[in-house]
Amino acid sequence: MSTSVAIIGGGQGGASVAQALRNRGYAGGIHLFSAEDVLPYERPPLSKGMLCGGDAPTWVLPEEFYDTQRIELHLGSKVTDVRSAGVRHMVVVDGAPVLEVDEVVLATGSVPRALRIPGTELRGVHALSCVADLGALLDDLGAARRVVIGGGGFIGAEVASGLVEKGVEVVVVDPVASPMAARTAAWVAHRLEQRHRKAGVRSLTGTVVEVRGRDRVESVLTGDGHELPCDVFLVAIGSRPATELAERMGLPCPDGVLCDDRGRTATRGVHAIGDVASWLHPALGRTRIEHYRTAIDHADVVAADIVGADIPALRVPWFWTDQYEHRVEVAGRPSLADQVVERPGASGETALSLHLADGRVVGVVGIDVPRDVRTASRFIDNQDVVDPSVVADPTIDLRKAVMK
Ligand SMILES: Cc1cc2nc3c(=O)[nH]c(=O)nc-3n(C[C@H](O)[C@H](O)[C@H](O)COP(=O)(O)OP(=O)(O)OC[C@H]3O[C@@H](n4cnc5c(N)ncnc54)[C@H](O)[C@@H]3O)c2cc1C
Repeated sequence: MSTSVAIIGGGQGGASVAQALRNRGYAGGIHLFSAEDVLPYERPPLSKGMLCGGDAPTWVLPEEFYDTQRIELHLGSKVTDVRSAGVRHMVVVDGAPVLEVDEVVLATGSVPRALRIPGTELRGVHALSCVADLGALLDDLGAARRVVIGGGGFIGAEVASGLVEKGVEVVVVDPVASPMAARTAAWVAHRLEQRHRKAGVRSLTGTVVEVRGRDRVESVLTGDGHELPCDVFLVAIGSRPATELAERMGLPCPDGVLCDDRGRTATRGVHAIGDVASWLHPALGRTRIEHYRTAIDHADVVAADIVGADIPALRVPWFWTDQYEHRVEVAGRPSLADQVVERPGASGETALSLHLADGRVVGVVGIDVPRDVRTASRFIDNQDVVDPSVVADPTIDLRKAVMK
């Protein structure tokens, strides 16, 4: 019977596992270590309402939860090592052993990929992954007229949509012509690109090779020789799992910490969840997913495993991106498909696509159709085979697409 848990990483997954443990009746000590010195908060608003709407942080759990549920917070404490011996694990902060526990949950998240080019040390060059990043970015955006964003993925595109609507001139530079297509679907990426163009965002296919300026950024140079003047340069070229601690602990981390289907790592008593963890998903195989809901789902499975309860079924991965008036949702792994079936929405344009592998639904992409996305996500859970002609016909109830 476990008597103490150290959760390392005070983000979405870390706070969620603390909550899930108490919900499941765990009575032992729960210690939550976070390198940041703020309560665990939700990251999606950083590139949405907090960037452009002045929204305050959304705490993962109410402030009083930690006291009432006896969660001991260690804020501003970066764990530098965990030394495991048998069933005991010693947590080390800044080289000093601070606490011995019998369960460890790694929830260290992911970190932005760095752009290794000259000039990124200049003032006005930013990344966006935490509240401190957002604070620094907002300070610089106050007087900014022109912003270049390196990377047209979800974070880059969300920031572009928010800033252009505030009257900022925005240029997005990405080596891929349609950067959102790989993780969504070609049709929806195209729709969003059109919307960005209409709003005035300029998109360039290429790479930024140099940041120029005296003590702060004045322009960026692209590989094909464009010099783009700017007051702020945002680097948004994706992220990588924050595996430094796991590697120091000797855990295999080929792409994230290698886990089984309940988050157990190679070391007994050590689980990993959220962005940093590569789990075996029952329907989708090995996946490492950087989405809000996956961190929450992992947390509940791991809490169940620690208390010895039945393991809840893992939901299919799902995420959303908000750009302008649109919400795009993606469930499952559309990239695994060998066939894509599109379904028109009320306007006659495609609003939903089902992504099939050998006839079974493995991915769903929708724009502004949350109910259809929910319905089709269940097809992935059930590994349903669907009739493409029914999916493509918006006059027939989507639920009737399942073939018996
Ligand atoms: C700008 C932005 C927008 C996003 N938008 C969306 C969205 O629209 N939809 C969506 O599904 N997902 C979105 N995400 C992704 C989502 O926020 C993450 O998938 C989720 O936060 C992952 O939770 P996590 O607990 O794994 O990691 P995180 O929430 O990142 O938390 C990790 C925490 O661990 C801490 N830490 C790291 N190492 C240590 C250590 N050694 N010791 C102590 N603490 C440590 C970090 O400082 C951090 O506080 C967005 C992310 C960002 C950055």
